[in-house]
Amino acid sequence: RANAEKFEFQAEVSRLMDIIINSLYSNKDIFLRELISNASDALDKIRFLSLTDKEILGEGDTAKLDIQIKLDKEKKILSIRDRGIGMTKDDLIKNLGTIAKSGTSAFVEKMQTSGDLNLIGQFGVGFYSVYLVADYVEVISKHNDDKQYVWESKADGAFAISEDVWNEPLGRGTEIRLHLREEAGEYLEEAKLKELVKRYSEFINFPIYLWASKEVDVEVPADEDESSDEEETSDSSSSEEEVEDEDAEKKPKSKTVKETTYEWELLNDVKAIWLRNPKEVTEEEYTKFYQSLAKDFSEEKPLSWSHFTAEGDVEFKAVLFVPPKAPQDLYESYYNTKKSNLKLYVRRVFISEEFDELLPKYLNFLKGLVDSDTLPLNVSREMLQQHSSLKTIKKKLIRKALDMIRKIADEDPDESNDKDKKDVEKSSDDDEKKGQYAKFWNEFGKSIKLGIIEDASNRNRLAKLLRFESTKSGGKLASLDQYISRMKPGQKDIFYITGNSKEQLEKSPFLERLTKKNYEVIFFTDPVDEYLMQYLMDYEDKKFQNVSKEGLKLGKDSKDKDLKESFKDLTKWWKSALASENVDDVKISNRLADTPCVVVTSKYGWSANMERIMQSQTL
Ligand code: ADP
Ligand code: MG
Repeated sequence: RANAEKFEFQAEVSRLMDIIINSLYSNKDIFLRELISNASDALDKIRFLSLTDKEILGEGDTAKLDIQIKLDKEKKILSIRDRGIGMTKDDLIKNLGTIAKSGTSAFVEKMQTSGDLNLIGQFGVGFYSVYLVADYVEVISKHNDDKQYVWESKADGAFAISEDVWNEPLGRGTEIRLHLREEAGEYLEEAKLKELVKRYSEFINFPIYLWASKEVDVEVPADEDESSDEEETSDSSSSEEEVEDEDAEKKPKSKTVKETTYEWELLNDVKAIWLRNPKEVTEEEYTKFYQSLAKDFSEEKPLSWSHFTAEGDVEFKAVLFVPPKAPQDLYESYYNTKKSNLKLYVRRVFISEEFDELLPKYLNFLKGLVDSDTLPLNVSREMLQQHSSLKTIKKKLIRKALDMIRKIADEDPDESNDKDKKDVEKSSDDDEKKGQYAKFWNEFGKSIKLGIIEDASNRNRLAKLLRFESTKSGGKLASLDQYISRMKPGQKDIFYITGNSKEQLEKSPFLERLTKKNYEVIFFTDPVDEYLMQYLMDYEDKKFQNVSKEGLKLGKDSKDKDLKESFKDLTKWWKSALASENVDDVKISNRLADTPCVVVTSKYGWSANMERIMQSQTL
């Protein structure tokens, strides 16, 4: 094109495109849901802006917030069009030429080895999946603040942008034209596209239309020779004809034939799933909704969900999900990011997905959506962020979230204490629920621990969700409630020990006597556990006691006093002998069985394990 301005892709984009183009990945279908998701995002943006400025939507067709898919079988072009916010020339250069999101390198790396493109949408590079099926792509776009432009690329390391002087004006929005590769012919089949929209984009909140062919019955003259002008006109004149011509009954003058016409066919049910009655939404629908919300199209189902309506002063509907897997960087970026993964809607209008006020940081792993009727619509995001209702919403969301997590445990047969009861209640979905809590704990256990540290008001609820291995858990996970149910008569404290690994701790001399006396000791082996135990002081009126620290009491022993007395001189001598080694005290202890002596840390000091962690700064 004569007026084209040429650009080179950012090196990382080029690399990504190369991988996509040469990909042997079989599920090429994903490009469509990525384009539809982008169209939906663009529509959300313009709708949000229109809340404070009605004019912005424009008039007539331009104001229609929908997505249109069209096929050109002859030219082998598939096009997807939206009337969303559109892109200015600068937007085109920036959005379709560079990668903004961090973590994309890691994704590119991973794709090179695994070849799995399924999560592409989560990495902010979904657009480039068009090159799975097309060898040439045009993006025509019109933003309110700029002229209409065409972006084009054959994925050869470069793209071009020209002012659009060829195509019809879009009014506003974006049309993506895919010039399909030879082997991607299936995407010219209407049935295929309908199936894909149904499978991946059913829960998009804007209507998706397909320019679909339709066979219709048309009346045509029975015999070309006999036909006259009069007969070709519409039925309304037929009664007249009958009177006029008696032959009509013997020789029909017209016959019905099939003819193909085209019309916009609606492919999705636009009614938002969260407005429906939870009883009427199927498990499969929730799974699909989760996938489209979280852009997580892996095969795994969410571990749990909660769909509810809150009433009272603050009214809202919400759907929360526990994803099947934690994203790789969940804890890496924990202290740097504030973003929660809940989408906020106000009366069906999407407002934002980066609303930190909705959930505390430790619940950032949840995905979901909140639609509030109480929040005002016509204020800026910043104003909304200050709104007093948010506190109430947040409080309720936390409760519901913790209930939802507890439900995973309640329904998991592995979690059940009572073996006999389990047999009676065994139901068909027991198998499906089996081991789910252990899975949850593996993926998100650290979040629960961070919650105990950070959220004093829900500490007890969170402590109920805590799992650990212990000297009695037999390699499985145990809960504090289980621990308490196994406590020995007269045992007052909950015993635990911290360290590097279970294997190392099992050999610890601190356990000798406790094990011999049949006390259960919890193993805490995660670096975060040391911090955790600085906040978790007690549970159900039982205190926590680190068995490697001073103050361990295993019930009263009358001989203790006598022993202390008779070894007084020895302990004194030891203390002075070790004075230069930073030893606070030397005491007679009943915590050991075979080992003659042991170094213990003081009650309020750091444990040896904590010293180790601080030295390596592993948290
Ligand atoms: P993501 O959607 O995660 O941001 P994509 O690769 O899918 O990543 O899209 C990159 C960017 O291109 C989007 O963030 C958006 O700014 C822009 N974009 C893509 N498609 C459209 C569209 N139909 N309308 C407006 N902007 C779009
Ligand atoms: Mg996208």
